[in-house]
Amino acid sequence: MTTAVKVAANTMKALVYHGPGQKAWEDKPKAAIKESTDAVVRITTSTICGTDLHIMKGDVPTVTDGRVLGHEGVGVIESVGLSVQNFKVGDRVLISCITSCGKCDYCKKGMYSHCRNGGWILGNTIDGTQAEYVRIPHADNSLYAAPPGVEEEALVMLSDIFPTGFECGVINGQVKPGDIVAIVGSGPIGLAALLTAQFYSPAKLILIDRDDNRLKVAKAFGATDTINFEKENIEQRIQTLTGGEGVDVAIEAVGVPSSIETCQAIVAPGGRIANIGVHGKPATLHMEKLWDRNIALTTRLVDTVTTPMLLKVLRSGKLDAKKMGTHKFALSDVMSAYATFGNAAKENALKVILKA
Ligand SMILES: [Zn+2]
Ligand SMILES: [Zn+2]
Repeated sequence: MTTAVKVAANTMKALVYHGPGQKAWEDKPKAAIKESTDAVVRITTSTICGTDLHIMKGDVPTVTDGRVLGHEGVGVIESVGLSVQNFKVGDRVLISCITSCGKCDYCKKGMYSHCRNGGWILGNTIDGTQAEYVRIPHADNSLYAAPPGVEEEALVMLSDIFPTGFECGVINGQVKPGDIVAIVGSGPIGLAALLTAQFYSPAKLILIDRDDNRLKVAKAFGATDTINFEKENIEQRIQTLTGGEGVDVAIEAVGVPSSIETCQAIVAPGGRIANIGVHGKPATLHMEKLWDRNIALTTRLVDTVTTPMLLKVLRSGKLDAKKMGTHKFALSDVMSAYATFGNAAKENALKVILKA
């Protein structure tokens, strides 16, 4: 009897990657403190990211057999290391997809994504958040206190998609009042860019995708115009919508060569191209067309430096993050959640919520 209880207390259930196409919800040793700066969080809400699907395809070689997936989550602090100062057992926290020490040269520059002792490691090089418990290194800098009164299903969207859409798309694209903005890709990240671009009152927000349902959602989320590129010529529509000028900001939110090439084809002189997508293949840079057009092209891995600001916006009620969650599953039913999310177009899925 005693032994059984002891075993139960030292194991947890987790979604474990076993090579391309193979995963299982299985027993793992329970997450535990390793360094004095760690915290262990009991997951109460998690979600699946497009990046997790890339991992399942074998596109991310840093993820090895046995890794617990997931880099987004909300939970309650279960235990803290001796040097954690900002959090105590029982605190409700948002887990950032980026782990950062706050002390290295990159962190000092606000580039948490390139932290020498962190970066995107959760569900990549260390075990992640699609589990009952997760160990968070550098807890003081990598966790955020959950604002009172904010629902977890809204809060979890700030682990990754909102800071990503906002920092890599809207901030790097320098969206300004009156701008015409095009976003290529109407998935969760493109929609997060769409919602946060509206902080700046652009004149037009044009969403480009091949999925009519996602374009319909984009309209409901504030897009002024949509283009289904399987039915319409993107460049011609953009010419019509912009009086032949092109767009001030073209945000890439897919991660394939054709989408970044579309951005190059539709950007106006003086415009900005902001890449968000994770690219696995080279894309053509059309310097023969762009060399004299005064454009800027940016790339970025989310630094999550805007998370405190986004938390304030969320708390004020001015960002309806919850509407990104279209499906809900029990955390223990994560295998079904992957099946639904992997079939997003057919299932009309944006983000799938996992509740423990
Ligand atoms: Zn993610
Ligand atoms: Zn650092």
